Amino acid sequence: MAIDATQPYDEDNIFAKILRGEIPNKTVYEDEHALAFHDIDPKAPIHILVIPKGAYVSWDDFSARASEAEIAGFVRAVGHVAREQGLVEPGYRALANVGGHGGQEVPHLHVHLFGGAPLGPMLAR
Ligand code: AMP
Repeated sequence: MAIDATQPYDEDNIFAKILRGEIPNKTVYEDEHALAFHDIDPKAPIHILVIPKGAYVSWDDFSARASEAEIAGFVRAVGHVAREQGLVEPGYRALANVGGHGGQEVPHLHVHLFGGAPLGPMLAR
């Protein structure tokens, strides 16, 4: 079920548990500001999630409250992962769902990286 992106941060959300090492993940990249891992239910041949290490509910929360260093570090990590995964030349899609209409289900900011095949239209009509 989609979340309310204005809710307070829930320390028990699944990505907070992944960051604390309480549940496993298939990590592809980690640095001071970000963790990237394979989506458990991939919607494209390559489907990676990149999350900030800080406690931010959504893109909205992150863009409003994160420090310049966190924002720069996270954005650079997303780009780094896409390059490292070989996604840039064939092309890829980066997506952040926010709140109810966005269909966001996990209340910790995550950017989806989709690639590995032509992805078709941006949205089904
Ligand atoms: P969203 O709808 O944008 O909130 O996307 C949440 C994504 O998290 C979905 O693509 C799920 O498949 C993915 N997901 C949920 N639990 C896990 C998990 N434990 N490890 C990796 N990906 C997960």
